[in-house]
Amino acid sequence: MDFTLTDEQQAIQESARRFALDRLKPFYRAREQARAIEREIAREMGRLGFLGIELPERFGGLGTDCVTSGLLIEQLAYGDFNVAYLNLLVSLCGHIIAHHAAPEVTAEWLAPIVAGEKFVAIALTEPHAGSDAARLRLKAERSGHEYVLSGEKASISFATQADVAVVFARTGREDEGAKGISAFLVPMDAAGISRTVGDDLGTRAIGRGSIFFDGVRIPSGYLLGAEGRGFAQVMQGFDYSRALIGLQCLAAARASLDETWPYAAERRAFGKPLSDFQGVSFPLAEAETHYQAARWQCLRTLWLKDQGQPHTAEAAMCKWWAPKLAGEIIQQCLLTHGHGGYGSDYPFEQRFRDVLGLQIGDGTAQIMKMVIARQMTPG
Ligand SMILES: Cc1cc2nc3c(=O)[nH]c(=O)nc-3n(C[C@H](O)[C@H](O)[C@H](O)COP(=O)(O)OP(=O)(O)OC[C@H]3O[C@@H](n4cnc5c(N)ncnc54)[C@H](O)[C@@H]3O)c2cc1C
Repeated sequence: MDFTLTDEQQAIQESARRFALDRLKPFYRAREQARAIEREIAREMGRLGFLGIELPERFGGLGTDCVTSGLLIEQLAYGDFNVAYLNLLVSLCGHIIAHHAAPEVTAEWLAPIVAGEKFVAIALTEPHAGSDAARLRLKAERSGHEYVLSGEKASISFATQADVAVVFARTGREDEGAKGISAFLVPMDAAGISRTVGDDLGTRAIGRGSIFFDGVRIPSGYLLGAEGRGFAQVMQGFDYSRALIGLQCLAAARASLDETWPYAAERRAFGKPLSDFQGVSFPLAEAETHYQAARWQCLRTLWLKDQGQPHTAEAAMCKWWAPKLAGEIIQQCLLTHGHGGYGSDYPFEQRFRDVLGLQIGDGTAQIMKMVIARQMTPG
């Protein structure tokens, strides 16, 4: 076992760290208030090679391994958890587009997505079907050289900011379940699309909302992969995004711990620094222990992916554990800051609200445990 990072990985980490501290961290709260990610920040990230870094160079990426993509997202999320959603979605959707879109569709869309010019969303969930996504109803009917999409997607990150979305729709019968589902790339300015955004507890810079499809016509060439294969395609992608989500959440916990240790050493109570009290320092020491274990779990999962080895159960472990743990660590850091931690002068309350969403998004803990149990049960 060799945990050493390559020179290239260290260089990417360092430049992402500088960018996160200079360009992301100071504006974390402002982005929440603006309820948007600045387009210029995304373009800067594109120019720096920070989006879809693991995609082959012909698609605008740098062709790195997935571990490097994980190291990158954790640096960016350290600065701003919400901006790191761009990494997550470009990596998840970028892979689907790169592997399954027609060459002319890839040429038109993937380069601007990786360049940070266009925002991409993934639209799977519907009002009646989240965990049980194979029951989705949004219809895509073939009409000559087009498909006509009708229905509703709900709970979609970047619902109103996205320029294009990977949309899952039913091309087969409802009783076919997952087999009747196909994936499409749908430009969000297509006629018949309307969008709304909700008022969430956190991740307000992203905006989670609904996309309505009212007879939306798209060229048949915008089908991604084979008809009826859409569900299998997205499930493979989730094994990757789940490890990235783990690192994204843990980075918010890391930033909170890095701010809390010096605070505990400086702040005094009963004539001593807070850190002299084991009641203060032991919960932080436990947090460090759990943080390390979860982080290595995520990186190892990405390493398994890079080696072409199965990693479905490992990815599900990252997804249920890391967001929950991150929330607990951030809460502990908030409490260590006393009354100040509860207010908006410190970033803990925002981080706490933001990471909570990813205990649900991309699959809940119960669903992840079902995935793990299915993988571990013999037969
Ligand atoms: C912050 C955030 C971002 C999101 N972004 C996106 C996005 O970009 N694109 C997208 O398509 N979707 C997105 N979602 C939706 C998300 O994927 C779904 O909310 C999630 O899969 C759960 O589905 P549901 O909300 O319908 O809950 P339900 O499926 O109705 O489940 C409700 C509760 O019951 C539990 N439950 C359900 N079935 C079982 C079972 N068999 N055993 C035990 N417990 C069970 C669940 O764990 C959950 O606690 C996002 C959600 C959030 C909160």
